[in-house]
Amino acid sequence: MIKLHDKYFKPFISAKQIDDALTRMAEQIAEDFADEVPVFIGVLNGSFMIVSDFVKKYQKPCEVTFIKLASYEGVKSSEDIQRLIGLTQDLSGRSVVILEDIIDTGGTLAEIHRIFKNENVKSLTIATLFYKPTAYKKDFKLHYVGIEIPDKFIVGYGLDYDGLGRNLPEVYQIKTTQHMTNLV
Ligand code: 5GP
Repeated sequence: MIKLHDKYFKPFISAKQIDDALTRMAEQIAEDFADEVPVFIGVLNGSFMIVSDFVKKYQKPCEVTFIKLASYEGVKSSEDIQRLIGLTQDLSGRSVVILEDIIDTGGTLAEIHRIFKNENVKSLTIATLFYKPTAYKKDFKLHYVGIEIPDKFIVGYGLDYDGLGRNLPEVYQIKTTQHMTNLV
């Protein structure tokens, strides 16, 4: 068990399980994109570990880049409209594969779809290491899912609790039944 700030977390998913899930995803995606050179896009901050480990397992030519979503400041809206920072590349006609660390409610994914609607990409594919099916509220297709998990807050392998825990090589689950929105 570990303590981050005021919360306790218990071991949940081992580094080996993560490694196996990434191997499966990389092999499947390489097969499905056999005739293409996809552009893998990691969504920062949480995806830095999955992208690094995933692309080492992807044994074919590919491009790798990162984006970050940032909330507009001073916008009075019930919706948290976000803008994309870090994308300088022209993606017209390219096969884009978004690499997500975790998909929870799907809010971030909805923003990604909204933003990429204006890019003239050939295809937009979603791959996520972790997925909480009972929390997911959108209809966007998730093309590749590594590990399905219950709707409980996790840390480690890129995911943080209030800044801490991103560096952990395995994943820990919070030791309460609270949803993450009760934590912040
Ligand atoms: P969404 O609800 O939009 O699918 O997820 C939004 C973001 O919330 C994710 O990209 C991730 O940064 C964060 N998030 C969702 N669930 C968890 C979780 O269990 N642990 C941590 N550390 N972050 C989470």
